[in-house]
Amino acid sequence: MIRRDYDVVVVGSGAGGGTVAQELAPLVKDGVRVLVLEQGPRLADAEFTGRELEMADALYEDGGAFLTSDGAMTLAFGRALGGSTVVYTGTSLVAPERVIRGWAVPGLEHADVARRSAKFAAQNDVHLLEPDLINDNNRLFVEGCRAAGLAAEQFPLNVKGCKGSSLCNLGCPNAAKMGTARVQLPAAQSAGVQIVTRAEVLSIRDHALSVVVRAGREGEKGAPSEWEPGQYEVRARVVVVAGGAVGSPALLLRSGFGSRLPALGAGFTCHPAHILVAEHERPITNDVGHPKSYYLDRAAAEGYVLETCMYFPFTTAKNLTGFGPAHGALMRAFPRLQMILVLACDKAVPGNRVGVDRAGKPVVHYRFTPQTVEALVRATRTSAKIFFAAGALRVHAPSADPPLIERRDAGRVDALVAARHFRTGKVSVSAAHLMGGCAMGSVGEVARSVTDAWGRVHGVPWLRVADASLFPDSLEINPYLTIMALADRVAEGIRSEARDLLGAGDVRS
Ligand SMILES: Cc1cc2nc3c(=O)[nH]c(=O)nc-3n(C[C@H](O)[C@H](O)[C@H](O)COP(=O)(O)OP(=O)(O)OC[C@H]3O[C@@H](n4cnc5c(N)ncnc54)[C@H](O)[C@@H]3O)c2cc1C
Repeated sequence: MIRRDYDVVVVGSGAGGGTVAQELAPLVKDGVRVLVLEQGPRLADAEFTGRELEMADALYEDGGAFLTSDGAMTLAFGRALGGSTVVYTGTSLVAPERVIRGWAVPGLEHADVARRSAKFAAQNDVHLLEPDLINDNNRLFVEGCRAAGLAAEQFPLNVKGCKGSSLCNLGCPNAAKMGTARVQLPAAQSAGVQIVTRAEVLSIRDHALSVVVRAGREGEKGAPSEWEPGQYEVRARVVVVAGGAVGSPALLLRSGFGSRLPALGAGFTCHPAHILVAEHERPITNDVGHPKSYYLDRAAAEGYVLETCMYFPFTTAKNLTGFGPAHGALMRAFPRLQMILVLACDKAVPGNRVGVDRAGKPVVHYRFTPQTVEALVRATRTSAKIFFAAGALRVHAPSADPPLIERRDAGRVDALVAARHFRTGKVSVSAAHLMGGCAMGSVGEVARSVTDAWGRVHGVPWLRVADASLFPDSLEINPYLTIMALADRVAEGIRSEARDLLGAGDVRS
């Protein structure tokens, strides 16, 4: 066992961890030793090939196919330096005021979240895309919404020099998408923060992290770890857990914190999503331009959000309901498919939670509530109307039986798409906005929350959480800017308490 000592150790390098690392970097010049431990590898720009299976395997946990315990939903989340920001699409929205107010976390104000989100939006070059990068799929969505009497909005995106390869979710092959691996982590590193990849934190007990550093598999992408492979004990005065909404609760549970924090793992939400496709007569450019330029926000009114999207052939095939000739015919129409991603705004409910198995591996227990199913059904009906209004020949609607709705039945969409056809396990559902598990709440309120509004774990002053697991309920919109805003608060809390926590001066700015 090799022993290492630091002042602050950050576990995870995604939207939360990467941001905390950057915001703690000013402490380094005062002699504070800051370390980031990331279990995934560090990829070189040239390793982003845009090939679906190869990149899914390199960048996602379980190749993007992490299943909930009943096998009914896949959860997509990153496992690489930069975490899920390497594979996200880069849509950059500020949390709705009604959601932050609804969370009712004492000490968390929407104005503060919005101000910090604006800071990271500026840092990540967030802007509206130039018209020449808007592809047919996005144009059809806007036209279909207009014809159906709905108002699509343009997504602010965090790209710089986007070449429109449409491959965001496989890691941008053109180094154009901004994320923590491009922006915050390099800034942290150049200010003296140390980053170690392929370093998985197995447990945390009383300031000591048990860490295993792994060598890469034969032929695996990514640089070797900065440390020699082996077992380490890393001691830290402060530990910031930022392993994501699955990784953080799982790490704290297997470290034994569950007995003093009964809310640990609870309140998991994820915006369950369907990928919907519709066949058109002519080819649709969806493999050029940015895949996700527009959305329709029906969260407050109807509990769902629609987004444009471009999914790759394997992902699309896996998301179509059914087998055989009908499935094959739709896949052969791939170049003519219009695509919409529908996201349900699920709610934190008892039973939907992150746990660990006997080996300490994360297990996500998740059941679709009737409200979530209804939201998916309403979203599917609206999408079908948008598809047909945009000129589609037929629409694939998972909550219809049979799932293909022909143009002649466009007027019967409300009757054909129905909750009774949503059969768990038969209908493909996936999620990429993983939230909750270490919920913020009132100071010391252990029955219902894990941390306070600054990510301080109740009763454990040296332990902080700084990622999407802090959300006490779903955000109802794309989450990364809010995660960065919350992580910024966590770092500020540590800086302002530096004298007590680290024996260093107060370094607020
Ligand atoms: C395909 C996809 C598209 C998305 N698109 C968007 C979008 O357009 N806009 C948006 O706002 N959001 C989007 N998201 C969601 C967004 O990326 C995530 O919400 C956000 O990155 C989560 O931040 P996080 O810090 O909680 O976790 P992550 O970013 O997932 O980072 C967690 C990191 O911790 C590491 N880790 C976990 N456990 C350990 C351990 N024990 N030891 C060491 N390391 C550990 C993981 O390997 C990972 O790198 C998307 C997500 C996906 C998957």
